[in-house]
Amino acid sequence: MKCPLCENMDDKVIESRQNISGTSIRRRRECASCGYRFTSYEKVEEIPLMVIKKDNTRQPFDVKKMERGIQRAVEKRPVSQMKVDSILHDIEDEANLRGKSSHEIKSIELGEMVMTQLYALDKVAYVRFASVYRHFENVEEFVNIIDTLKNI
Ligand SMILES: [Zn+2]
Repeated sequence: MKCPLCENMDDKVIESRQNISGTSIRRRRECASCGYRFTSYEKVEEIPLMVIKKDNTRQPFDVKKMERGIQRAVEKRPVSQMKVDSILHDIEDEANLRGKSSHEIKSIELGEMVMTQLYALDKVAYVRFASVYRHFENVEEFVNIIDTLKNI
C-alpha cells in the first residue's frame, strides 16, 4: 500500500486487529522507506441490493434516483431537505431489511414505501408521486385517490 507521506509502495503490516463484530480488519502499517506508520481497513464487499422492475429486469438499488423522484414530488412544498433525507434513510433501511436474504426487492415495493412515507408527510407530494408512479390510466383513478384523501 502506498505510503501517505513519501508515496513509497513498500510497507509492512505491524499489527492486524479485527473489530468486535468481525466485519472489518484494521491494519497498522509501516513504510519501509520512511518509517511512517498508517492504518488501513479491510471490509467484505457488500452484495448490492438489486431492484426487480416491472418487466423483470434488474438494476442496482439507487438511492439518488429515489431522491430525485421524491424531490420532484415535494417541489415548492413545505418539506425540508432534512425530512427528505430521513425518508430516504428509512426506505433504504427497510429495503435492505426486506432484501436481506435474497438481495433483491421489487420496484413496486419500493414505490409503495415511498408513497406510505409521503402520505404521512405531505398529501400534495403524495398525490404527485402517486400520479407519476402509478401512471394513472384514467381520470377516475385520479379522482378516486383525491376522494380518498378528502375523507381523512
Ligand atoms: Zn514512507
